Amino acid sequence: MDAIHLQNPEQEKSEILKRYKALLRSCKRKMEKDDKAQIRKAFEVALEAHKEMRRKSGEPYIFHPIAVARIAAEEIGLGTTSIVCALLHDVVEDTDLSLDDIKGMFGERVAKIIDGLTKITGISEQSTSIQAENFRKMLLTLSDDVRVILIKLADRLHNMRTLDSMKHEKQLKIASETLYLYAPLAHRLGLNAIKTELEDLSLKYTEPEIFFDIEKKLKDTEPERKRYINKFIVPLKAELETEGFGFKMYGRPKSIFSINNKIKTKGVPFEEIYDLFAIRIILDSKSEDEKADCWRAYSIITDFYHPNPDRLRDWISTPKANGYESLHTTVMGPEGKWVEVQIRTVRMDELAEKGYAAHWKYKEVAEARENQLDEWLKRIREMLESSDENALEFIDDFKLNLFADEIVCFTPKGDMRTLPLGATALDFAFDIHTKVGENCIGAKVNHRLVPLSYQLKSGDQIEIITSSKQSPKEDWLGYVITAKAKSKIKLALKEVKKKLADDGREVLERKFNHLKLDFTVQNINEVANFFNLPSSHELFYRVATGSINLKNIKDYIEERNKRGGKKQGAKKQGSKSLESIVKEVRGSADMLVIGENMKRIDYKLSPCCTPIPGDDVFGFITINEGIKIHRVNCPNAIQLMSNYAYRIVKAKWTNQEMISFLSGIKIKGIDEMGLVNNITQIISTELNVNMRSISFDTNDGVFEGTIMVFVQDTNHLTNLMAKLKKVKGVLTVSRVDGN
Ligand code: MN
Repeated sequence: MDAIHLQNPEQEKSEILKRYKALLRSCKRKMEKDDKAQIRKAFEVALEAHKEMRRKSGEPYIFHPIAVARIAAEEIGLGTTSIVCALLHDVVEDTDLSLDDIKGMFGERVAKIIDGLTKITGISEQSTSIQAENFRKMLLTLSDDVRVILIKLADRLHNMRTLDSMKHEKQLKIASETLYLYAPLAHRLGLNAIKTELEDLSLKYTEPEIFFDIEKKLKDTEPERKRYINKFIVPLKAELETEGFGFKMYGRPKSIFSINNKIKTKGVPFEEIYDLFAIRIILDSKSEDEKADCWRAYSIITDFYHPNPDRLRDWISTPKANGYESLHTTVMGPEGKWVEVQIRTVRMDELAEKGYAAHWKYKEVAEARENQLDEWLKRIREMLESSDENALEFIDDFKLNLFADEIVCFTPKGDMRTLPLGATALDFAFDIHTKVGENCIGAKVNHRLVPLSYQLKSGDQIEIITSSKQSPKEDWLGYVITAKAKSKIKLALKEVKKKLADDGREVLERKFNHLKLDFTVQNINEVANFFNLPSSHELFYRVATGSINLKNIKDYIEERNKRGGKKQGAKKQGSKSLESIVKEVRGSADMLVIGENMKRIDYKLSPCCTPIPGDDVFGFITINEGIKIHRVNCPNAIQLMSNYAYRIVKAKWTNQEMISFLSGIKIKGIDEMGLVNNITQIISTELNVNMRSISFDTNDGVFEGTIMVFVQDTNHLTNLMAKLKKVKGVLTVSRVDGN
């Protein structure tokens, strides 16, 4: 960790031994004689192999493998095999020793892990994007032994801890790679402490100003925070002690990385983040009492501080996908501040920090711990390889999150293809080639026949079955999600349709001749209208596909002859009434005064823009629903005014009547405690407005809400919106203008 330049070889040697001994001490697990001998042997082999090498910092190279081995043992909780591999992890890559040498000395298993580690190292030298792709592939195909990944994480953590001595560009590359690949990986494996440290270290090198700024602010505010935490903890401590709990309780600051995330995503300054720390209570519980103890502690805490029921998270009854167990609550602490409290047992805490590897420590069976670890690793590997839908949720989550919104699939020859999450077999076919997509009749996924709409999963191997007779079908559009496949299918369908329409036109012409109907544009349009089709083109197409046949057209002619007269009459009547309305409105006054001549003329406030008194409005004469009042800035206004100018009447409001009008308000902001309550309180009590509906949607701390209220006029509404804007947490308040 620390760059020590030891000139004296004797001194250097003793420092190496000191570190080696510290490593042995960190192997908490009881070791057999044989284990110790293996580790000793690995140490000596590595020491000899790296003896001429130095790290960038100038210190002996062996410091690095020892440190990696120590992280593997101490911070991840891995056993002898992993410690041996960690000690040897750079030997094949950087020295003259070969994989066969390792195999000869340490056996097949160790050699395999070293092989995996060496391959990953090779990838690191490539450019970041290629590397990311290959890393994914690596995880899915190579992960013979998950210890490869765990040791790689230990290796990366130590490199990040000692990144100072690297050149700046190299620092940036390693740090961003860490953020992109290794931190999420650690998270998925439940290695919380490592994940957090990797993130903080990455931030330190990618955005140093931000990192040091937050670090300083955290330090400056520390005394204040400590004072508060003490105030919070003291009464709880006394009560927990009285109740006979063995426990530790402390305030834990959030990581710099997560604070920065909050500043960025929520747009609030450091000073306004209220949850800079959480209180953690770690109970010393017997395994059979764990759950009950946690809830008892919860009960004691909430006797002192009132909990927010929306913020209770019970990950004890239902652990998180990565194995995390804990009971979280947010309570109202002293000085009216919300405080998050995490309650868990020693076992749960260790699990949260060290991940699944810590499980085995708590297994009652003492024998063959290493074997149990193997069992766990085997399970992860099986899950990584399995395409079984019932595979544990944890691994699904692992894959999903690691690959965010992408999946990686393979062709029968093993070529890799990256597709968006949710892509189907048909998407895959189009991804290979348009022709393959168009002629696709089926697919085999992992040698099993599946439908075209089959949703692919990462690691699937897909063989597309084609036939030259196949062509894209309309319903295929529902089977694909990629833009490429969609546009290719649409294009193909359009061409097919166009060709069919040409055929249909000829057929229709013959039918018209047969029925003694002139094949004129007007007649064609009338028939299209009769069948409610948007265009003659569509009519031709339907005739070609047979969905409109000769009999249908005969029906039309009959219908026309039968109802022709009546229809004409109805139309006349309609237009007469329209004319009369216009006349009536225009005649009485040049302007429609809403509220005055209300009784005389039938009109409605249009739901598309919900006008209220005070808005600039106009009336639009509809055929069946009288006059509709729109706001001048209604999204539909331009279209109405430009196309139907003759049906527009000027309108204004009278201010005599006190009627309430329905209006919508949209609110966006940050999900603060009690925010919805504050908003509804303003609406219902302060201004005496009636609320018709309220809907809120919270997404990762950001909420969006729509409230429908009855107000008297724009003044009233503006007032209300101004008050809402002042609510803490509210960012924007706007009027809903319909759509
Ligand atoms: Mn290394």
